[in-house]
Amino acid sequence: MTASSHPGTTAGRTANSVAPQRLTVLGATGSIGESTLDLVGRNPERFDVVALSACRNAPRLAELAIRHRAKTAVIGDAEQYGVLCDLLSGTGIRAGCGPQALIEAAEEPADCVMASIVGAAGLAPTFAAARQGRRVALANKECLVSAGDVFLSEIERAGAELIPVDSEHSAAFQALAGSDRKALERIVLTASGGPFRTWDLDRLSRAAPEEALRHPNWSMGRKISIDSATMMNKGLEIIEAFHLFPVTAAQLDIVVHPQSVVHCLVFYTDGSVLAQLGPPDMRSPISYALSWPDRMATPVARLDLVKLATLTFEAPDEARFPALRVAREALARGGSAPCVLNAANEVAVEAFLDKRIGFLDIAAKVAATIEAADVRGMIKSLRSLDDVLAADGESRKLAQSLLQPHIANG
Ligand code: NDP
Ligand code: MG
Repeated sequence: MTASSHPGTTAGRTANSVAPQRLTVLGATGSIGESTLDLVGRNPERFDVVALSACRNAPRLAELAIRHRAKTAVIGDAEQYGVLCDLLSGTGIRAGCGPQALIEAAEEPADCVMASIVGAAGLAPTFAAARQGRRVALANKECLVSAGDVFLSEIERAGAELIPVDSEHSAAFQALAGSDRKALERIVLTASGGPFRTWDLDRLSRAAPEEALRHPNWSMGRKISIDSATMMNKGLEIIEAFHLFPVTAAQLDIVVHPQSVVHCLVFYTDGSVLAQLGPPDMRSPISYALSWPDRMATPVARLDLVKLATLTFEAPDEARFPALRVAREALARGGSAPCVLNAANEVAVEAFLDKRIGFLDIAAKVAATIEAADVRGMIKSLRSLDDVLAADGESRKLAQSLLQPHIANG
């Protein structure tokens, strides 16, 4: 079952049930993971934490696992395993490490798995959760971008539930609830415009990672913060929405809305527009994904529309933010093109954060990688997770090779 259908009951907790929801959080030490566990900590009677994971941050993982009485804690990086074991010794919490242990953690019996590992590293564990027929609360957008149809088939085959966590998609999911799908005309995702919304191209060419990481409204992990600055994030979200909702690419639009209060607008054929509004705090959409189809009291700031007074909207500028066009073209090209886009973007963002390339080079390198992949016959249809992982790996190598001349030339 995907976000495009709305049944009356859930796999785990139902409206009248008092049994705690068994919850696994993949990427527990990240921005989404911490927000999820903040809600868990405030509602301990609602949740039973099964497994938590991180990549390198063993001290924080151990702290969270102990605080939330998790059964299992898994660290991706084997070098940190010793630290994790020491910190968990005597607690009864099982420690694991490496990619296979991440998959096994995702497979442990649970009602819901929060998929909040960043990047393509989240693919295999999120697929594993889907295959178990779990509710997958999906924050990891890269999964839908790189593996869209393949991932959705797994969800369908296993009878899993897919609930979007990304705020715009959660907003669309809410605005579509109970509606006549045939009357759906258009979905408009809002974009804050990021920290460089008003910068000209010359200034953008000199933008530093520290500046790009300073998002005006949202507090997020490093990779998505850079994606917000380039607006690749919105490009990835168009692809995400394309897979989640029953629309064509032409029915998906973006509007820049600097206040980040309206998260998405759904247009219907009778001229009605249903929007979802809320403060820019990810605990809102996370709460909805965990409690759907119910709602859970959530301690986010309440909107004060009088105080806000003005909500503004602008058209996106693809000349200054070409990542939007590059992402749309990848979606139109189809097959593995969005997977190449995602892999190249991860490589380029990393290079920018390491100050090996400039800000404007990010979208340019991604576009160049897709072109080069096309020339080499690398754009093909993807049928399985193995196909996706192979395409992701090849694309990373290609993207890295295209960074080399830049580095050599300084
Ligand atoms: P963060 O960088 O804050 O956290 C990422 C988490 O994934 C951390 O727990 C990290 O562990 C873990 N991780 C990173 N690399 C690996 C790896 N190779 N193997 C296993 N675990 C890994 O990211 P965010 O929380 O910001 O984002 C998570 C996902 O949610 C992303 O896909 C993002 O696009 C999406 N998203 C995020 C939003 C936000 O507001 N933050 C909004 C909408 C979507 P460690 O701490 O040890 O490095
Ligand atoms: Mg978003």
